[in-house]
Amino acid sequence: MLQVCLPLNALGFVYREARDALVNAEKLFELLREQPEIKEAPGMPSLRIDRAEVVFEHVNFHYDPARPILHDVSFRIAPGQTVAVVGGSGSGKSTLARLLLRFYDVTGGRILIDGQDIRHVSPTSLRRHIGVVPQDTILFNDTIAYNIGYGRNDASNEDVIAAAKAAHIHDFIQSLPQGYATEVGERGVKLSGGEKQRIAIARAMLKNPSILIFDEATSALDTQSERAIQSELDRLSENRTSLVIAHRLSTVVDADEIIVLQHGRVMERGTHEKLLQQNGAYAGLWQLQLRSDEQESPTALS
Ligand code: ATP
Repeated sequence: MLQVCLPLNALGFVYREARDALVNAEKLFELLREQPEIKEAPGMPSLRIDRAEVVFEHVNFHYDPARPILHDVSFRIAPGQTVAVVGGSGSGKSTLARLLLRFYDVTGGRILIDGQDIRHVSPTSLRRHIGVVPQDTILFNDTIAYNIGYGRNDASNEDVIAAAKAAHIHDFIQSLPQGYATEVGERGVKLSGGEKQRIAIARAMLKNPSILIFDEATSALDTQSERAIQSELDRLSENRTSLVIAHRLSTVVDADEIIVLQHGRVMERGTHEKLLQQNGAYAGLWQLQLRSDEQESPTALS
């Protein structure tokens, strides 16, 4: 848990703002099952979002000095565009997302959002502008409405319903006897992977962040459900700057740029077409994926 500085208590309005943002930040960490190393320090300026440009500039990083994880990683996500990161297990993909959220600080280089080094702004304000659609959506033992409204304290019922509609989960929710008051989680109704994902998408839509991180957003789904949810994901990322941490290459085909990481280094970069033409590591991964998809869905072959 993050610590609230006690003196803030004395300043009602400042405290309230800090607390609200804090709750959001905490939620984010709960969602990612991770505790941030970087905590709020008093007096830091808030991040100012203008166009939501994200730049990784010669980023180096290690969790343990004896084992470097990222080496000189540079890329730019232009406002409203999508960069997808692919690469083998342990290549450092999720670490990029953790650095952008400032769970840790870079050990070399810098990360800029609209020209501001994220080390020089309040982490709470930074996290307020970033939405995360995590790999495994964790639902809380509460109602569906609560789970959707989770990123925004001030959301009205109408806001929650609008977000559910946009995520195409409203009709399903309405079909449940208790509707939005249905309890989910351990003691509640069991939801499929796709339904949980849609709740995560609705939650992110409601938060309305300028920057989005998709952490293998569709990996929990089979190919058919994945295709069904792709249009909602596309809609969510429309006009938002997005970083996609991906395993299934089908989710990255439309990215404005694909970064191929290998052992923490950028091996290749470019659009899907350009990388296929290049016939390097990405093209190899693509061939592998095609073959495993064919094996996964024998009906498609018959
Ligand atoms: P995957 O696709 O398997 O999720 P990834 O490319 O996302 O992998 P990361 O999670 O970024 O990989 O991890 C990169 C490396 O950093 C891995 O070798 C991992 O063991 C190591 N690592 C990750 N988190 C920590 C941590 N908190 N402390 C120490 N090492 C870590």
